[in-house]
Amino acid sequence: MLRRTKIVATLGPATDAPGMLEDVIRRGADVVRVNFSHGTAGDHRRRVEAVRRAAAAVGKHVAVLGDLQGPKIRIEGFASGAAMLTEGEPFALDPAIGARDGTDRAVGMTYPDLAIDVVPGDELILGDGQIELRVVGIEGSRVQCVVITGGELSDHKGINRRGGGLSAKALTDKDREDVLLAASLEVDYLAVSFVRQASDVEEARALLTAAGSDARVVAKIERSEAIPVLEEIIKASDAVMVARGDLGVEVGYAQLTGLQKQILHMARSLDRVTITATQMMESMIHSPVPTRAEVSDVANAVLDGSDAVMLSGESAVGKYPGRAVEAMAEVIEGAETYQLARTRGRDRIEGHVVEFAQAIAHAVMFTANHMDVEAIVALTESGSTPLYMSRIRSDIPIFAFTRHERTQRRVALYRGVYPIPFDIVHTEPAQLYRAISKELLDRGHARLGDELILTLGELSGVSGGTNTMKLLTVEQ
Ligand code: PGA
Ligand code: MN
Repeated sequence: MLRRTKIVATLGPATDAPGMLEDVIRRGADVVRVNFSHGTAGDHRRRVEAVRRAAAAVGKHVAVLGDLQGPKIRIEGFASGAAMLTEGEPFALDPAIGARDGTDRAVGMTYPDLAIDVVPGDELILGDGQIELRVVGIEGSRVQCVVITGGELSDHKGINRRGGGLSAKALTDKDREDVLLAASLEVDYLAVSFVRQASDVEEARALLTAAGSDARVVAKIERSEAIPVLEEIIKASDAVMVARGDLGVEVGYAQLTGLQKQILHMARSLDRVTITATQMMESMIHSPVPTRAEVSDVANAVLDGSDAVMLSGESAVGKYPGRAVEAMAEVIEGAETYQLARTRGRDRIEGHVVEFAQAIAHAVMFTANHMDVEAIVALTESGSTPLYMSRIRSDIPIFAFTRHERTQRRVALYRGVYPIPFDIVHTEPAQLYRAISKELLDRGHARLGDELILTLGELSGVSGGTNTMKLLTVEQ
C-alpha cells in the first residue's frame, strides 16, 4: 500500500544539519516549505539547491513550496529577549520604541497603523494566544492597553486583533521581492499569507506570471476576513492551507476544527488542493514521540481529506526532524487503513463539468472504484487529469506519467498521486502499453495480469488534451 496523504516539511536550521535533508526526504517528505519569514535570500537559494540534490540522491520528486511572510504584524523586542506581563497592569504597543527597548510596560512594533485600526475595547492577542490585551486608549501611534492574560512575552511575537480587521495589505514590499526570488528559485508552489480576499491571490499570481513563473498559488486561510469570502478565495487559488496557527488566534481556537472541515471540503469539491498545517506534531520539537492528541489530530486531518499535512517547527527547528516525518507517515498510513477501503460513493454524481478531461477523470474514478482495478495511469502534461481524479475518494493509486520535471514535482502534493518520469517515444499503441507495463513492473507497483485504467490524449503532447480512457492488462 502506498501512503496517499502527503507530507510537507518546513526547512530551517534543523534540516541544514549534514545529511538531515536526505533523511527527511527518505522518511517521507513529499514537499518542502521554504519560509520567507526567516532567513536571507542566500539561505533560501542554498536550501533549494540542497533540496534538489537530496531529492536526486534519494530518487524522489520533491516539490518546493515558497511561503511569503505577508503582513505579519509583530512586536519588536526586549534587551533580555522577553518580559513578564502581569494581569491588570498597563502595557503599550508603540512604534516609536526601539527594536530592543521593550520593558514590562511597553514594547515597539513593526506596524505603525495599529493605532488607526483599533479602538478602545478591542482585544489584542500576542503570540499563539498566550497573552491578551485590551485596548484602553490611543495616543498618536501608541496603543495603550491593559493586560487581560499575562505571562512571558518574548521578542517578535505576532499581534492579532480578536475578530480580525487589521488593514495591512496582503502583499508587502518584501513579499513582492520574495515573489521574484521564488520565481528565480523555480518554486513549484507559492503560498500567500494572510489572504483577505480573492484579489490578494490574483495579485500574487500576476506578479509570478510577470516574473516568468507558473508556480501554483496556495492561499493561506488564517484571517477572519477570509471566512465569509472563502469560496471566491478558493476559486482564485490552486491550493489552500488551513493555517491553524494564525487562524486559531483570529477566530478563537474553538472554531478551528469545524472550520478545518469546512475549508477542506469546499476546496476539494472545487477541485483545489489542501494542506492542513501547524502544531500537528508540536511536542516532537523536543520529544522523539508524538502525544496521543497529536496522533489523533494528524489522523483526523487525513480522514478529513487533506492532500497534505504539514510540519513547521518540528522539522525547521526541532530536535528530531527525521523522526517527526516518519511518525507522521506512520500515523497517516494507520489512518488510511481505516478509511472506507473502496468507496462506491456518489461523488460528483450531480453538478456540471466544464472540461472534457474532468468528465474523463470522473468516469475513470467511477469505473475504477466499481471494478476493482489495481491502478490508474494518467499520461499527463500539466497534471490536471490526475488532479481531477484525486478529488474523488478512492484507495486506488493514480500514477502520473509525465516527461515534465515540473509536473512530476507539482503532483507530489496531490493525494494518492505518484509521479513517474515517462516520455512517449512509442506512437504504436501496443509498444506504448508495454512500456507503461514495464515501468510499473520495474518499480514494483504492479504484477503481471493486473488490470489498470489508462487515460491519454492524442499523444500530441498538448496540455489539457486527455480524451481517452482505456482498460489495460499489465503484460510482459
Ligand atoms: P505560518 O503559517 O507558519 O507562516 O505562520 C501557518 C499558520 O499560521 O498556521
Ligand atoms: Mn501564519
